Amino acid sequence: MQRFRYLPEVTTLKLNAGACVGCGMCEAVCPHTVFAVHERKARIVDLDGCMECGACAINCPAEAITVTPGVGCAGYIIQSWIKGKENAACGGPGCC
Ligand code: SF4
Ligand code: SF4
Repeated sequence: MQRFRYLPEVTTLKLNAGACVGCGMCEAVCPHTVFAVHERKARIVDLDGCMECGACAINCPAEAITVTPGVGCAGYIIQSWIKGKENAACGGPGCC
């Protein structure tokens, strides 16, 4: 099966490698294997695989990751039109 791809070079994902404490949470929670942790440092190995769900940033204890959740998620965008941004979320059956 082909790996998930998003539009190239548009994701808002950023990693501050200097702040990373190497816990591995980003690698564990990312549904698209965007991160790899090696010798207790995370690095982005597939930037264009990121669909901006926000899970890595939420779970990073060092606040080393920033991403604007939902920018790349069509489900989130549609929900934000219908429900408003404060009630929209990326996730649920069939999302991303
Ligand atoms: S979750 Fe944060 S601290 Fe942990 S490995 Fe990833 S970037 Fe580093
Ligand atoms: S925002 Fe989601 S898809 Fe993107 S790197 Fe983080 S966990 Fe992976």
